[in-house]
Amino acid sequence: MDLGLKDRRALVTAASKGLGRACAEGLVAEGARVFISSRDPERTGREIGAAGWLASDLSSEDGPERTAGEAARVLGGLDIVIVNAGGPPPGTFQSTDLPAWEAGFQLTLMSAIRLVKATLPLLRQSEQGRIVFITSISVRQPIPNIVISNAMRAAVTGLAKTLSRELAPDRITVNCVAPDAILTDRIRHLAGGDEENVRRMAERTPMRRLGTPEEFAAACVFLCSRQAAYISGQTLGVDGGSTLGVH
Ligand code: NAD
Repeated sequence: MDLGLKDRRALVTAASKGLGRACAEGLVAEGARVFISSRDPERTGREIGAAGWLASDLSSEDGPERTAGEAARVLGGLDIVIVNAGGPPPGTFQSTDLPAWEAGFQLTLMSAIRLVKATLPLLRQSEQGRIVFITSISVRQPIPNIVISNAMRAAVTGLAKTLSRELAPDRITVNCVAPDAILTDRIRHLAGGDEENVRRMAERTPMRRLGTPEEFAAACVFLCSRQAAYISGQTLGVDGGSTLGVH
C-alpha cells in the first residue's frame, strides 16, 4: 500500500533512540523527508538518512521553538509532527517531590504545548497536516510507581482531543499512540537494567513478549498517512492486548 508519504516533511522529536528513532526511520522508509531533534541527534540523523537534525532540550523554554524553526527552514515547511520526549522518572505520589513534578510538567506537557504552538502555523499551510503524540498506555490504565507519567499523559491526551476538534477545519488530524512495554532503553532502565526483570515483564504480557520499536512505529506511520485522513482525536494503544478495558 502506498501511504502517500513520499516527500512529506516530518519532524520527529526525541528521536536519537527508542520509539522516536523507530518512527523517524519508518517515515524515511516511506520516502518522507525527516528532521529529528534530541539532546544528541547527530549520529542517529546520519544513520537513518534524516534530512537534518538539531540538538535541543525539549523541556527548556526555547527548545521546542528552536526545533520547529530549524525543521521548517531545512524542510521548507512541515506536514507532520511526531511529538515525543523522554519519560519522567518513576516514583509513587509519596516519594515524588514538588521539583520533580515541575520537571515532569515541563518535559511531558509543556514541551508538547510549546511544540504545537510553534509548528501550528506551518501545519496549517499543509494540505494534510498530522500531529501524533507519543503517550503511554497509562492513559487507559495507570501504571503503579510512575505517578508523574500517569498524570501528565492524561493531560496530553486531553490536549490532543481538544486540538483534534479545533484543527479539523484546517485538515490537520491529531492522534495519540500509546505504548505499553515496547523494548527500548526506557524499559531496560525501568527494569533496573536487569535482563531477568525484562524477561519477567515479557512473560506477564498476553503475547508473552515485549513489542518492538518497529511495531510501534508502524502505527505512528499509518496515522501520518494519506489513508488516515479521517481518523482524528483517537488514542491507538500498541500494547499487545495488555489493557483490560473495552475502550
Ligand atoms: P528512550 O529512553 O529509549 O528514548 C527517549 C528519547 O528521548 C531519547 O532519544 C532521548 O535522547 C530523548 N530525550 C529525553 N529527554 C529529552 C529532552 N529533555 N529533550 C529532548 N530529547 C529528550 O524512551 P522510549 O522508550 O523511546 O520512550 C519514548 C516515550 O514514550 C517516553 O516519554 C516514554 O516514557 C514513553 N513510553 C514508552 C514506553 C515503552 O514501552 N517504551 C511505554 C510507555 C511510555
